[in-house]
This record gives sequence, C-alpha cells and structure tokens, in this order.
Amino acid sequence: FNRNLSSARRLLDDRIREMFYYLHAQKSTISDEITAAHVEEQMISLMGASERLDDADQFADTRSETLAKIASDIQKSIENLQNPSVCKNARALLCNLDKECGFGCQLHHVSYCFIMAFATSRTLVLRRDGTTWRYSTNGWSAVFMPLSNCTYEEIIANEQSATFTEQSESRIVTLGIVDGLSNKPLFLPLAFPSTLSKELTSLHSNPPVFFVGQFLAYLMRTNEPTEEKLRSVYRAIPFDKGPIVGLQVRRTDKIGTEAAFHKVEEYMKWTEFWFRVQERRLSANLTRRIFVATDDPTVVPEAKKLYPQYEVYGSTDIAKTAQLSHRYTDASLIGVISDIFVLSKMDYLVCTFSSQVCRMGYELRQAAGKDDGTKFHSLDDIYYFGGQHPHEQVAVEAHKPERRGEIELKVGDRIGIAGNHWDGFSKGQNRRTGADGLYPSYKVVEFWRTLDYKALSGCED
Ligand code: GDP
Repeated sequence: FNRNLSSARRLLDDRIREMFYYLHAQKSTISDEITAAHVEEQMISLMGASERLDDADQFADTRSETLAKIASDIQKSIENLQNPSVCKNARALLCNLDKECGFGCQLHHVSYCFIMAFATSRTLVLRRDGTTWRYSTNGWSAVFMPLSNCTYEEIIANEQSATFTEQSESRIVTLGIVDGLSNKPLFLPLAFPSTLSKELTSLHSNPPVFFVGQFLAYLMRTNEPTEEKLRSVYRAIPFDKGPIVGLQVRRTDKIGTEAAFHKVEEYMKWTEFWFRVQERRLSANLTRRIFVATDDPTVVPEAKKLYPQYEVYGSTDIAKTAQLSHRYTDASLIGVISDIFVLSKMDYLVCTFSSQVCRMGYELRQAAGKDDGTKFHSLDDIYYFGGQHPHEQVAVEAHKPERRGEIELKVGDRIGIAGNHWDGFSKGQNRRTGADGLYPSYKVVEFWRTLDYKALSGCED
C-alpha cells in the first residue's frame, strides 16, 4: 500500500470531522432551521464518503495485516522478556499491584510499570505475585494468566531492590507510582518506538494508544474460568448481525469530583450520527444496536425507555459492579473486566475518556485490531495516559486570533494540547509565545515522541 496516500486520507478524514464539530457547534447560530439541518445532512454524507475511501482500494486487508503483524511482533518481544531462560538471573522490575484506586487505575499503573520494564529490557514482576489484591481474594491469577513462567520467589528470591532509573545496573529495581515521581522517566507514554514510526503513523491515527494497548492486552490475558464467563457474556450480544456501538456511561462517585454529568441523550446523539455516517458508507439501512457499560444501574433501563427503536444490550450485573468504596466482589471484578472486553469489540465507542474504564476499552480495541484510533467519540477529554509527558502538536497552518480567547499560530509552532473542545477548537499553549488559549484543531498535526526500545531491536521491518 501507499503510505502517503494512507496518511493523506487520514488527514482528510480528520479535517472533515473537525469541520463537522465546528458546524455542529454553530448550529444554534444558524437562524434558518432548514439550512442547519441541510448542512448537518451534507456533512454526514461527506463523512460517509470519506470513510468509504478506506474500503475503496485493494489494500485494506494489507493495511490491517500490517497492523496485526506489528502487534504480534510486540507481543512476541514482551513474551520473550517475560519468560527468561534462567529465572534467578532475570533483570526484573518489581511493581506494586495494589495502588489505592479503581480497577482501571490499577491496571494503568501496572501498564506503566510494564512499559518501563520493556523499555529497559526487564521482566515485569508483580509484588508477591499479586496475591494480595483488593479486587480478588485469590489475587491476580484468579482471573488473569500469570505474567511469567517464573514465580516471584524464583526471580526475586531475597535480593534487595534498587530504585528504578533507566540506567540502573541493579538486577532488581522498583518503580514508585507515577503521580509521585519528581523526574518523569523518558519512556513514559505517549512515546512509542521509532522503529515502528513510519508504519504506525500512516496506518493509525494514534500510535501511542496502539502501543499502550499492547501491554494492556498482554496483562489482561484471561485464564480459562474467566474465558468461560466472557463467552457467556458474548453469547448474549449479536456481534455478527451488524454494527454495534459501545457506550460507557461513568457516573456514581466520579460525578462532580473528576467528571461532569452527561445525559444519556448526549451519548445517543453521537451514536446516531455514527450510524447515519455508516449508512452512507455502506449504502444500507442499519438496525440500531448499542451495548451500554456503566456503573449506574438506572442507565440501561433509561436508554431502553427513551430509544425504543434501538436494540439495547447492557452490563448484566451492574448492581454488583457499582461499588463506591473500590472494594469489589469477584462478581464485580468479572463485571468490569467483561464490560471492558465487550467495549473493545464494538464497532465504535461513545464515552468520556476521563474514565479509565473507557480508555481501557479504547486501548484494548487497538490490540484487537478493531480500530485505527478514530472509532470513538469522547464527550470530554482527548486520549491520555495518566502521568504522561506533555502531548504536543505542531501548527501546519498559520492562525490569527479571530475572537477573544484564541491564540496566534505560525507554521511550525509547537503547541502543548490540553484538550479538544469538539467544536472545531482545541485548547493549549503555544510553546513559542507562551500564550494559552484556543486554536482551530484543523490547523495542527500531532507531534509524537519516538524513542528506541531495546526489547524491539530484533523486529524492525
Ligand atoms: P474511573 O474512576 O472511571 O477513571 O475508573 P477506575 O477503574 O479507576 O474506577 C472505577 C471503578 O468503578 C471501576 O474499576 C469499576 O469497578 C467501576 N466501574 C466504572 N465504570 C464501570 C462500567 O462501565 N462497568 C462496570 N462493570 N464497572 C464500572
């Protein structure tokens, strides 16, 4: 396939989507209702045409096979590191599983340890094999496969550990939680391997999430009893009948502390837009199907009542999963795991990226090959990884402020992005001028950090 063509299509798709966000936000200022509806309809048709381009050449399969090959090479490199031939000689990174927070937050903490271990060619070891874990009285291996063929005792024995540094010569190092680090390790997301940069930037709109997803996928390799439970969850969802959208509605303890309340209608608006675009793409009428993951037991009944034209599937055991104290029963653990896996299998995702549960679904989608990074709509944040290095973009078009609150851009300016307002504008800081404010999202492209990862040196293309 032609990499330049692939990147150009991706850019065009992004620009059309940003135009849609802009026009959608301006809708109320268009005084004529017919014009507003017409513009929306025309944009949806344009987005469908743009998506159709993705299927239009003979290389669609090659592109997904290339992504799958990159994923499998990374998985193999992880597997090699995790299964050293002599356990007691392994260079290890010891990670504490029980960070004081929810399941998504803990798994992200372990993912961060894992990425640091990988970047420094170390085997990730969970402290005491994760046997004391608030999520399960039986520890990590109650639901997941062990991370290594070697046990904790075989690798660590009674040896003292040193504090993690990238250059450390010690056989065993420990890594503190990311929130408490005074110096951020170089390899923290959103960095990804430079050896994969050429392929990933043309095939995927968000290489960092593709890379993070690989680690989460390895961590969340489920054991047979979990697989059995997942199979029964999957059986209840008609995956093979047509496209289905995954909604994740995070409420309860998150509202008012870390995120704003969003009505079911807001999620459904973006879901309906997506179905309308797909109808243009596929030239077919589509049955509306959604799967709703949530910690709020009122959401699924409400969605069913408000949207009778939709087939609504939902978390089976919400009452048990909603645990404000972050102390979970085995059933609630399976509940959140299965919700995350189901979200990862959907054709599109509508959620708030402020929730780690939703971000995990999005991350796992990449490892499952279900996404090119664009198949979501977040009602709040853009994708981020807790503790990440600043996420930067670079201006490819100049901008003179048109309204209060906007900042100037010159071509080549570096901008630290804080968020996309999903109305055509993003907010960030121009590193050259130091000014904070809004700029048109279509005038920038991503500026990704790429680095050399020793563990991958064997699988460059
Ligand atoms: P965050 O607080 O949403 O960023 O994510 P955390 O995973 O750190 O903590 C939230 C916890 O609430 C999760 O671990 C789950 O136990 C529960 N929870 C939140 N959203 C969902 C959901 O969609 N489905 C299920 N089953 N549980 C959820």
